Amino acid sequence: MTYAMSVQNLFVSYHGNEALHDINFTIEKGKLVGIIGPNGAGKSTLLKSLLELIPKDQGVIEIFGKSLNEMRKKIAYVPQRSDMDWTFPISVIDTVLLGTYPSLGVFRRPKKKHREWAYHCLEKVGMEKFSQRQIGELSGGQQQRVFLARALAQKADLFCLDEPFVGIDITSEETIVRILKELRDEGKSVFVVHHDLSKASTYFDELILLNKELIEVGPVREVFRPEIMMKAYESQLTFMKQNEVTV
Ligand code: ADP
Ligand code: MG
Repeated sequence: MTYAMSVQNLFVSYHGNEALHDINFTIEKGKLVGIIGPNGAGKSTLLKSLLELIPKDQGVIEIFGKSLNEMRKKIAYVPQRSDMDWTFPISVIDTVLLGTYPSLGVFRRPKKKHREWAYHCLEKVGMEKFSQRQIGELSGGQQQRVFLARALAQKADLFCLDEPFVGIDITSEETIVRILKELRDEGKSVFVVHHDLSKASTYFDELILLNKELIEVGPVREVFRPEIMMKAYESQLTFMKQNEVTV
C-alpha cells in the first residue's frame, strides 16, 4: 500500500536538545489527521521536519511513497500565524497567486487564467471582496482563510496546516473546517496541528498524539481515550474534566 505519509525512526533536535525521539507512523491517503499534544510536544517540529524546513538528525520520510523532493509541488503548507511576517506589503490576491507558482514556474508571469483561479480560491474561503487589501490589514481569521486559499490555489494532494484555528473567529474556523473536510472527501490528505482537545474528536479522522515521543496514532475513537490521552498530558490531568472525555 502507498501511504500519504510514512515516517520511520525520525529524530530531531535543536542545538543538542531532543525535540522528537524515534517517531514511527504511517497514515493512509484521504484522511483528515490531527497532530495533537501539549505545548512544546514537538507538533510544529514534526510538520517542519516532514517538509524539510528544519534538518532531522535521522529518519526516513516518504510522502505518497516518494521523497519530499519528488512531491514538493504537491504539498501545501500553512505555517503558524505567529511564524509569519504580517508587515510584508502584499495584497490578498497576490498572496493567493503565490500558490500557483509551483505550476507556473518562477520566471513566468501569472496569466489571466491564474488570476481567475486565484480569485475562485478566494471565493471558496469567502474572501473575494478583500482581494485588493493588504494582507496585514486583515483580522486573524481572514488571514488564515487567505492562506488556505493560497494552499487551494496550489492544487496540492497533501495539505499541512499548523494551528490554523488559533486566535480566529468562529465563522473563519467553521469555514476552514468545512473546506478541510471537503478536501478529505475529494481524496486529499490533510494534516493539522491542533491543541484544542474539545474539538479534536469532531474535526479529525485520525490522530497523531505526541509528547516528544509518539504516544499513539490511529483512528480518533482509539486515540481519544482518557488512558491514552493521559500519557501525553500527565501534568494536565484535569483536562478530562474540562473536556468531558468519555470512553
Ligand atoms: P509544539 O508545536 O508542540 O508546541 P514545538 O515543535 O514548537 O512544539 O517545539 C518542541 C520543542 O522544541 C520545544 O521544547 C521548543 O522549545 C523547542 N524548539 C522549537 N523550535 C525551536 C528553535 N527554533 N530553537 C530551539 N528550540 C526550539
Ligand atoms: Mg507549535
